[in-house]
Amino acid sequence: MGERAPGFETLAIHAGAAPDAATGARATPIYQTTSFVFDDVDHAASLFGLQAFGNIYSRLGNPTNAVLEERVAALEGGTAALAVASGHAAEFLVFHTLLQPGDEFVAANKLYGGSINQFNHSYKNFGWNVVWADADDPASFEAAITPKTKAIFIESIANPGGVIVDIAAIAAIAKRHNIPLIVDNTMASPYLIRPFEFGADIVVHSATKFLGGHGNSIGGVIVDGGTFNFGGDDRYPMLSKPRPEYGGMVLGETFGNFGFAIACRVLGLRDLGPALSPFNAFMLLTGIETLPLRMQRHSDNALAVAEHLAGHGKVSWVSYPGLTSDRYHNLAKQYCPKGAGAVFTFGLKGGYEAGVKLVSNLKLFSHLANIGDTRSLVIHPASTTHRQLTDEQKVKAGAGPEVVRLSVGLEDKADLIDDLNQALDAA
Ligand code: PLP
Repeated sequence: MGERAPGFETLAIHAGAAPDAATGARATPIYQTTSFVFDDVDHAASLFGLQAFGNIYSRLGNPTNAVLEERVAALEGGTAALAVASGHAAEFLVFHTLLQPGDEFVAANKLYGGSINQFNHSYKNFGWNVVWADADDPASFEAAITPKTKAIFIESIANPGGVIVDIAAIAAIAKRHNIPLIVDNTMASPYLIRPFEFGADIVVHSATKFLGGHGNSIGGVIVDGGTFNFGGDDRYPMLSKPRPEYGGMVLGETFGNFGFAIACRVLGLRDLGPALSPFNAFMLLTGIETLPLRMQRHSDNALAVAEHLAGHGKVSWVSYPGLTSDRYHNLAKQYCPKGAGAVFTFGLKGGYEAGVKLVSNLKLFSHLANIGDTRSLVIHPASTTHRQLTDEQKVKAGAGPEVVRLSVGLEDKADLIDDLNQALDAA
């Protein structure tokens, strides 16, 4: 290539990959092995001491996973990445690297329900305390910060879809207080939003969703933006204090602007163990090759479906930022002008019964608890994911009896609208 920096579509196919040195294989080989032979004793010593980069054992890194890591880092515009077993594992390793027992972090109150659960319950076992802020009100993040706050966590497009978060405004608050901003970019993917461009310091992904894109593999990725100086900062001892297991090395100083990603690998992944299988890395990489095409089509189809539903007699409301009437439309124009993603909710005039009937009558949409598949997906939260909540809690969580969530896939949009029409007629 010439001098031009490669475009997003080129990076989605090529970043991190080259023909295999040993065989010439053009697709990234699946290095299905647990461990790698050392050249000699000195080579082994330098790998274990972090004096050289290389392969030791596939829990710590694998050449197939390394291509995925380099590719997602390139697409997000970060300095380095770490691939792990799931999106939740990615979040866990990020917080394990940043927090000590008794520390706090501020999180947006509109998040994937599983993240809300792990923050409210499991994280308490580690002494990590979440303080909730209003995703729609950046000032509430500033109000929630205390001397114990070590991080801020938001989603770019927030679950259950239809919510665009003002990343730049929250990043400005994080900067003012010298606290890293973590953005879960699962719903947008770097094709629609690149959070580092708006001031984020760390990006996490459930690669299970749009990155992989085909509903076949669970995986997660952490991306280091290289923007936060952890090295000399006593508040982050994992990065700023000598590590006894690495001969007194200070990871944040030795590895500079990719020290955070290294610490997540050599402390978090090494000790806690949520490794991604190289087979899943291969599946996710194959998915990423078509990410730009898929995300555009997801967003275009979702807009067409949302516009149709907004005019349908049995529908009371539609929450999709791509609609000009939507409360998040201006934020969508600012943060994701190419499209507002695939996932959104709408309300049925017929309430709970109509919701249950709709999911039973749909034929092309699959009734299941995932998003970000080529196939269109539907769920009625009140009768499934939010079933155990009281009616009042359901409404507060955006899962009232009449709410239906769609993840619009890549099928012919006319077929999707046809399927919704026949199911609504019967609902
Ligand atoms: N973050 C978001 C926005 C999600 O939607 C999900 C899963 O639905 C997760 C994180 C957790 O990811 P995983 O299921 O890969 O652990």
